[in-house]
Amino acid sequence: MADQTEELVDVDLYDDGSFPDFGRNQAPGAVAVFAAVRGKGPVPQTGLATRRQLRAMYLSPGGHEPVGRLVLRSGRWAWLYRIDLAVPKRTPTLAQERALDRAMAARSTCPKCQRRYHYCLPLRTQGCCDECATGTPADPSSYIAPPAPHQLAA
Ligand SMILES: [Zn+2]
Repeated sequence: MADQTEELVDVDLYDDGSFPDFGRNQAPGAVAVFAAVRGKGPVPQTGLATRRQLRAMYLSPGGHEPVGRLVLRSGRWAWLYRIDLAVPKRTPTLAQERALDRAMAARSTCPKCQRRYHYCLPLRTQGCCDECATGTPADPSSYIAPPAPHQLAA
């Protein structure tokens, strides 16, 4: 009988290669993870967390495989990763920085005169820079002149 039980355990673990499922707050360290994600507690050293939870704690799986699943009552689920194997999140990639820079450029460039200012313009209310709106010359040190118009060969 004891042998049979052991066999069943083996089958459970290795037969279909499935991962252990945990409900909400059932995974090891889930409560501490939840608090840390909300900024209401320290980042736990051990336990399991989803990729999204890791990101909220400035961590990433760092290439290690998930060890379980978090299954919600709705049927949705997410992989769970070991916090002790997680690594600090990478700094933004070049592409992300470029996208950020483009967003900033859009907020600080006047659509009328194309100058790029060193601060954000009231585009939502005024729609352009102060000089275009009121005629008051802007401090030349507060903007970068627009690039010369392209000379297109006819
Ligand atoms: Zn302008």
